[in-house]
Formats: sequence, C-alpha cells, structure tokens
Amino acid sequence: MTDWIAEEHRYLFQNYGRQPVVIERGQGTRCWDTEGNEYLDFVGGVAVNILGHSHPAVVRALSEQAATLMHTSNLFYSRPMIELARVLVEQSGLDRAFFCNSGTEAVEAAIKLARRWGRDVKHGAFEIITTVDGFHGRTMGSLSATGNSRYREPFEPLVPGFVIVPWNNLEAVRAATSERTVAVMVEPIQGEGGVNMPEPGYLAGLRQWCDERGLLLIFDEVQTGIGRTGTLFAFQHEGIRPDIMTLAKGLAAGVPIGAILARDEIAAHFVKGDHGSTFGGNALACAAALATLREVLAPGFLERTREASERLISRLRAIEDRHGLVTGVRGRGMLLAVGLAADVSADVVEQARRRGLLVNNVRPNAIRLMPPLNVSDDEIDRASDILEAAIAAVESAGGK
Ligand code: PLP
Repeated sequence: MTDWIAEEHRYLFQNYGRQPVVIERGQGTRCWDTEGNEYLDFVGGVAVNILGHSHPAVVRALSEQAATLMHTSNLFYSRPMIELARVLVEQSGLDRAFFCNSGTEAVEAAIKLARRWGRDVKHGAFEIITTVDGFHGRTMGSLSATGNSRYREPFEPLVPGFVIVPWNNLEAVRAATSERTVAVMVEPIQGEGGVNMPEPGYLAGLRQWCDERGLLLIFDEVQTGIGRTGTLFAFQHEGIRPDIMTLAKGLAAGVPIGAILARDEIAAHFVKGDHGSTFGGNALACAAALATLREVLAPGFLERTREASERLISRLRAIEDRHGLVTGVRGRGMLLAVGLAADVSADVVEQARRRGLLVNNVRPNAIRLMPPLNVSDDEIDRASDILEAAIAAVESAGGK
C-alpha cells in the first residue's frame, strides 16, 4: 500500500505542519482517512467547509456547471459571476464585487483599490493601518499588512505603507493616523491570531474615526464572512458597514474563490486595466458559491447556526468549569476557541484526533473550532465529549 505521508515528504515543499492523517473522503461533518478511521471534522478546511463535506447542493451545482461551462476568462461575460455579484451586493449593502481566487488575493485587491482611491482623491495618501496579531495572507502585500513577525521577518524587506498598531486600541489608531493614511483594515474577529474578539465599541469606533478623517474602513471577512459568526457578515453584529470587504474561504464551501465588495464611488477608481485575474469570476467557482449562498440564506438556516453555536459554547463552558487547564471560551457563531493555561494545544489536538475529533491548535495555548454551520446537536455533543476526554488526558499527563 502506498505510504502517502512518505510520498508527501518526498515530493512536496515541507512548509506545512500537517497532522499525520491522509483524509480520503468526507460527508457532512464527518471524514475518513485512508486507514478507514472516522473523524468529526471541527477544522472544516480552516473555516472553508461551511456546509460540511460534499454538500449535495454544491455537488449538484458543480457537476451541472462543469457540464455546461467551466471557464471563459474576463474577456467575456458569464452568468454565474453576475448572479453571484448581485446576491453579494444585495446582502451586504455594498455596491460592486470583484472576484479572485483566494483570501490573500482579495486582500491584495483591497490594498490596491485603497491606494488607487488615495492617489485619486486623497492627495496620494497610501498608508494602511492594521493590527498586531491580524492575519491577511501570505503574498507580499497582504503579508506586509499582517501583524505577526514570525510570518513577516523571513521575507523582509516588505511592501512599505503599513502601520501596525495594537488590536482593540482605538487610541493607537488615532495616534497612527497622518496625512499619509488612506485606510484602516481589520478582521471583525481576529481568526488566525487566536479568535480574538473586538471589545464592544471598537469596530464602531473605527467606523467613526474613518468617517471623521475621511479614511476607508476595510473589513477582512475572509474568515468571518458567509455565516461563520452567525450572521452572513460579521459586520452585521455591529450596526455598521465597511467601505470595502474581503471574502474567500466559505464563499464557495470548498471551491477556491475570493471577492471584494466596495461602495460605488470607491470601486469606480479601479478603471479598465487596473486590476484583474484570469480565473477570477470563474463560472465553476461562482456556481458553487451561488449554491452555497442559497443554502446559507434559506429561511431559518442562520438562526439554527446561532442556536447550535449556543449549544457548543455552553458545552465548552461546562468543560471549562470541570478542567483547570481550560481558561476560557471565546469567539462567536462557529468560530470559537478554547484557551488553555499552558502551551499544550498540540497535545490536545493529538489526543482529540486519536479519539476521532479534528480540531486546530491556533495558538500554543488555544484550540480553535470551526465546524460546519449546519453541524447537528448530536455532533456537537459527541465532539464536546471527545474534546473533554482529550483535555483530561493532557491534564493527567501533566499538561497542567
Ligand atoms: N484574511 C484572513 C482574515 C484569513 O483568515 C486568511 C486565511 O486564513 C487570509 C486572509 C488569507 O486567505 P488565503 O489563505 O485564502 O489566501
């Protein structure tokens, strides 16, 4: 039998720390490895598989679209991209969409659009304020916006024009603003940084500051968007709206796609030839995204996600009450993290996996859970039981 892990070590770049399982098949919240072991998948492709694995509506849309038209390029019009843009515009209250293929590309588009706008209407202002522990991607522009020195330092010098200030600190944003500033870009909840919640009033305070100073507010909703936090977009919890929003991950429930949405008068500054992408707006990806949004926007779907989230949070809080290793539960909707009193999250991940649950060690002392939005009560209960057993095993091995 092929040793796929040995083959990976032989043939792929060794830039990922993978868990030692070869996942072969998935259905809903469950997946199976090549040894036939079954897992409850609470990683969900890192917040991508919002409808679980191989949701029938997405599979149907993909196969029908694949048989009809896969790709035309942006030299032509095609229907799925136009329909998808209409749904996203109607739902977000923003005016126009641009499509690309990943989160980092969406962020690049947002950065370029902000700079273009700054050049045209703000006397060449170009600086973007971002936050410590914010994550925006791995290409040079989005990496330069990312507030994590582990990712940044190996690739310096980075793209100039980013000022990184502490998260949840409005005063720091005010102090960093100058005549060079064009935009403030944050995630509504910091995902890769450890599921760090905004303090009440922080995002609204950013909106107010941007309005006062004529700056663009960019929300990177690559991780929080498409129902992940219990509303279609995380900004909808806050009673405010950004000027530009990035999307990717869950947008097509497992098919690569990225997007930005922007207000009309900002989008207008990308004139013909300013930006583009061969695959952007690809018919196959857009058909998958339309099918995904049809499910997520179906009456009752997100209400059910919010109820399921409450159940999961209360199960996690009960684990916190019983285990000193757990220091807190944070997050919203189906983007949650369990804080740990010691740097043992990799051990908890391993213990959980051995018991049939996939979770993510987002920080050395935090476990992140990103189950599908349609996870069942029974799956939540089973996952919570396994996570508790894993935590108990790490505790008894001296993890605390
Ligand atoms: N922005 C945010 C908020 C993210 O969480 C991520 C990925 O985790 C990215 C951007 C980059 O997305 P991608 O990995 O699709 O390039």
